[in-house]
Amino acid sequence: MAKAGGCMFRIGYFFYTRTRVGYYYHQRDIAKAKEKLKDCGGHHSNLTPFDYGDLQIVPIPMLLDNYAYLVTDRRTNTSVVIDPGHAEPVQVYLSGRNIMPDAVLVTHKHWDHSGGNKEMRQHYPNIRVYGSGSDHVHDITHPLQAGETLEFGGLKFNTMITPGHTTGHMVYILDGSPYGVGDSIFSGDLLFLAGCGRMFEGTAETMLHSLDQIYSLPNDTLIWPGHEYARENLEFSCHLEPENQTAKEKLKWVKSQREKRFCTCPSIVQEEKQYNPFLRTREESMPRVLGIVKDGIFATADDATRARMLCEIRERKDQLNYKL
Ligand SMILES: [Zn+2]
Repeated sequence: MAKAGGCMFRIGYFFYTRTRVGYYYHQRDIAKAKEKLKDCGGHHSNLTPFDYGDLQIVPIPMLLDNYAYLVTDRRTNTSVVIDPGHAEPVQVYLSGRNIMPDAVLVTHKHWDHSGGNKEMRQHYPNIRVYGSGSDHVHDITHPLQAGETLEFGGLKFNTMITPGHTTGHMVYILDGSPYGVGDSIFSGDLLFLAGCGRMFEGTAETMLHSLDQIYSLPNDTLIWPGHEYARENLEFSCHLEPENQTAKEKLKWVKSQREKRFCTCPSIVQEEKQYNPFLRTREESMPRVLGIVKDGIFATADDATRARMLCEIRERKDQLNYKL
């Protein structure tokens, strides 16, 4: 692939994200993933529902490592689907249980998150498809602005614009209080367990601001990311901070989960602050870990320095993943 940020990359990226050319590439990716995962029923992870009283959240595995989510309020039998990059596995799950979803919420325009919107609308003619109005999300019916709230039966979502990965990337925060559980954030490609999305359409400063918004959420907020990247992300966390016991313990748990093809969701904000390097640029130790020096001494963490740290962390992660 052309180098990210290069001219050829930008042209290819434009056609991939903004035109139907991308949709055909996406269909090819779906076929490739099915072929690669054919020995395990076409899924990268087992399908496991999570129950919190009257709230149920089901991560639905799709493609090579994506998750869509089905969120259901059992009191009102209302369901919402998040990020159906591929409609087929979602529809198979829903039709097997006679569930008619009220809405689809999409975090951003990339096809692995939005590629099933069209089929969802064809299959469920009354469904509303929401997405950020500033992200050119394909096949939505209801463009959203920052800070809008959405309500479906008992499910209440707040929206937050979190640019960096894409210009109008949006996350959805489900109010957990009616169910006696912490809030849930559906973080798309902004934040993964121990990682964060690539900065395709934003500067490090922009991404830093979006990550800071996650950092300020209550510690008990559950995180439901767009991809199953936990293992490689935590391997990097342990590589970067070899003394980080929390990262080591989490990696051990993640390895045992993945050996059984169990999903590693949800994560939780409090834990992410301890092992996600992209949320640790405030840590006093981080300039030393990264060798970030200002005026000959290890820098203090002002925002410009923290943005520099973010770039350095990304670069080091790419180097390690390339070697692995
Ligand atoms: Zn993406």
